[in-house]
Amino acid sequence: MNQHILIVGGGYVGLYTALRLQRKLHRELRSGEVRVTIIDPQSYMTYQPFLPEAAAGNLSPRHMVAPLRRVLPKVHILNGTVTRVDHAERTVTFQPAEGEPRQVAYDVIVMAAGSISRTLPIPGLTDIGIGFKTVGEAIALRNRVLHLLDVAESADDPEVRRRALTFVVVGAGFAGVEVLAELEDMAKHSTRYYRNIGPSDLRWVLVEATGRVLPEVGPEMGRWTLEQLRERGIDVRLETRLESCEGGHVVLSDGSEFDAETLVWTAGVKPSTVVNDSDLPLDERGRIKATAVLTVAGTQGAFAAGDAAGVPDVTDPGQYCAPNAQHAVRQAKVLADNVVRHLRGQELVQYRHKYVGSVAGLGLHQGVANVYGVKLRGFPAWFMHRTYHLSRVPTLNRKVRVVVDWTLALFFKRETISLGEMEHPRDGFRAAVATTRR
Ligand SMILES: Cc1cc2nc3c(=O)[nH]c(=O)nc-3n(C[C@H](O)[C@H](O)[C@H](O)COP(=O)(O)OP(=O)(O)OC[C@H]3O[C@@H](n4cnc5c(N)ncnc54)[C@H](O)[C@@H]3O)c2cc1C
Repeated sequence: MNQHILIVGGGYVGLYTALRLQRKLHRELRSGEVRVTIIDPQSYMTYQPFLPEAAAGNLSPRHMVAPLRRVLPKVHILNGTVTRVDHAERTVTFQPAEGEPRQVAYDVIVMAAGSISRTLPIPGLTDIGIGFKTVGEAIALRNRVLHLLDVAESADDPEVRRRALTFVVVGAGFAGVEVLAELEDMAKHSTRYYRNIGPSDLRWVLVEATGRVLPEVGPEMGRWTLEQLRERGIDVRLETRLESCEGGHVVLSDGSEFDAETLVWTAGVKPSTVVNDSDLPLDERGRIKATAVLTVAGTQGAFAAGDAAGVPDVTDPGQYCAPNAQHAVRQAKVLADNVVRHLRGQELVQYRHKYVGSVAGLGLHQGVANVYGVKLRGFPAWFMHRTYHLSRVPTLNRKVRVVVDWTLALFFKRETISLGEMEHPRDGFRAAVATTRR
């Protein structure tokens, strides 16, 4: 048959599709009849639901990622970006990490490039805003929060202190609520090591354009979450928009203004840019137009799933599957099976999964859950959140490392060190060179 299957993106959909293809096509892969390639800028898959825990220091960032080459020994991994998909010609343009772009030919393509932050043209946002989708962002944010506690502790000027200790999160979905709750919990815990900062000096503001938080857990549990956040002293502004944040001066649509050193933007996602740079059809929301069998509508040999694709929800006609890991993992399984069926000339099967609800962590020992109609809050929900994600994180190796991290944090308390200098590793050396010249 001699087929080349190319997977664009090594995240949830890419990794799980490749894992299943590796298993189902092991004979063809061994004989060379089939080749599978993944292209991704990173050499690892990020388990995104653990980003807030990594930001809070409960988990080592290395333990929440799955190394693609190790997990997928039968798959060829190329690091770089797909900048164009020309499905009519069955080629993509591949921009490697270093060097000139080149064409990569394929027979079957799987579009699994996920999503990026959906931003708005708000003055100052690109200067001070930070997203929350990658390990780099999670760790930078953690370092920043802890560094700003150091700044405030050492500052005389009350304005400098207030600005350093004001943290704004825009968007009260999964990512926004979890990162805010985890970081607030970590920062509050850390204040015990500072002489001049108490928990009440920290100001956390959550800005949300709609009238609710955490819609993923339903209205009742969303309302409970809102009460919890407010009880913890978090300033939640519903039906409020960020108007501008030039130079760190935050202006909200309710008329309030204040200075903040940190602004996290988690107000939604949009498909990865490569979907626009392709000849594949898009739906009205700019996602790849997918069918219920996870092919790209109107094409042969093209498949798509996950955040980058608009997949019809056959359990709720007229609606699309939400962009979440719950769908991405299950879609990857059906997608891989359909790729195998496609190669064997068999009929493809539909993707069918009814959304079962969600769990969210709200800091150490705190959580909220609404799964299969079972509503939990506080410690039981937090425990469920951890056990669920532990069962989902790929590979036994990672599961063991995650449990070890959690256990260590339980006995020795979490790490509260800012290693921000890692973002500027050459500063010390440059300063030494400058001294030598003098
Ligand atoms: C903080 C946070 C918490 C979350 N918590 C939950 C949760 O608790 N439950 C839940 O169900 N969902 C959760 N989600 C959502 C979930 O992580 C996503 O829905 C899921 O990752 C989507 O999978 P994907 O494969 O489509 O995209 P991703 O997993 O994002 O993978 C996309 C991959 O494509 C790569 N890529 C992008 N562009 C290109 C290109 N041009 N060329 C090559 N490669 C490219 C990227 O580098 C990435 O590796 C959370 C998300 C975040 C950010």
